[in-house]
Amino acid sequence: MRVLITGAAGFLGSHLVDRFLKDGHVVVGMDNFITGSKDNVRHLHASENFELVEHDVSKFIDLGGDLDGVLHFASPASPIDYLELPIQTLKVGSLGTHNTLGVAKAKNARFFLASTSEVYGDPAVHPQPESYWGHVNPVGPRGVYDEAKRFAEAMTMAYHRYHGLDTRIVRIFNTYGPRMRPGDGRVVSNFIVQALRGDPITVYGDGEQTRSFCYVDDLVEGIYRLFHDGGADPVNIGNDGEFTVRELADLVVRLVGSESKIVLEPLPVDDPKQRRPDLTRAGDMLGWGPKIPLEEGLQRTVEYFRQVVRT
Ligand code: NAD
Ligand code: UDP
Repeated sequence: MRVLITGAAGFLGSHLVDRFLKDGHVVVGMDNFITGSKDNVRHLHASENFELVEHDVSKFIDLGGDLDGVLHFASPASPIDYLELPIQTLKVGSLGTHNTLGVAKAKNARFFLASTSEVYGDPAVHPQPESYWGHVNPVGPRGVYDEAKRFAEAMTMAYHRYHGLDTRIVRIFNTYGPRMRPGDGRVVSNFIVQALRGDPITVYGDGEQTRSFCYVDDLVEGIYRLFHDGGADPVNIGNDGEFTVRELADLVVRLVGSESKIVLEPLPVDDPKQRRPDLTRAGDMLGWGPKIPLEEGLQRTVEYFRQVVRT
């Protein structure tokens, strides 16, 4: 297969590139490096099966050759990134999704959308099954990301229904692992970097809000299976172990062996109080479930950050 992966220089995109290359496929990566880095794919510079194209996918995409798949992963994903880049985030979720759907249609390729658990907003149903329509504030600061992804899902389903395009939608729950940017602001990278440096661990609010953290290898395996064996309905992929942010902070401090103390900082506007995927559909459809427990995944991630972070 020859596939186009947008956001290929990002955290998840780069791991997905590795997964396709491992099975002998040819990958065109596309990125404008707005939140990603060439370092994430530098190990592939000699690979004959990989090429990296610098392009903003919110603009028309002109790509030669046949394609079997288009996987649209380009988008700022960390709250601090999308709050700093609100218009770019709305554009890549809307225009970028339209352009990548257009490429898939022109090439008669399968389309795969990276959506998010944020489509459920601050969920009133817990855990969240795919049938839940969500509880999103469209005019709050997070709306730029949540609504862009909700539009992207609607656009993907319209291409599926109207044009008969073969499509997939994954709703990704908080994922962590090597190649996260040390300063990208997400909770796992923040806490590990703070613990390694002996800086205060910044818990927002009272730390009683929950998240369910998935190690990147588990996520990529679920995505790969969904691409090959799934259907058009959205599928949650994540880990259904649920932890408070406070529990995560304590665990990171223990694993790093750090002297860092916890400090409480204000809770961001519209920060979801709870989040946990219902993984029934992923299990039934793909025979997939997460395998790597939080403690083991964090240990691997701490090893990575020990190498890249100056303490
Ligand atoms: P990331 O910021 O590391 O990667 C995103 C990549 O997209 C970056 O390399 C960035 O430069 C690129 N990009 C952004 N706008 C672009 C544009 N207009 N044109 C070309 N490239 C562009 O983030 P990530 O964590 O790897 O997230 C990847 C995808 O997965 C995103 O679509 C995100 O919404 C989704 N997602 C991630 C998580 C998670 O926990 N990591 C959770 C839910 C959804
Ligand atoms: N958070 C925190 N301290 C940090 C960064 C994040 O307490 O330094 C909290 C944040 O308020 C949220 C949770 O951790 O409740 C997860 O935040 P993240 O930005 O990783 O992802 P989100 O799930 O909010 O998109």
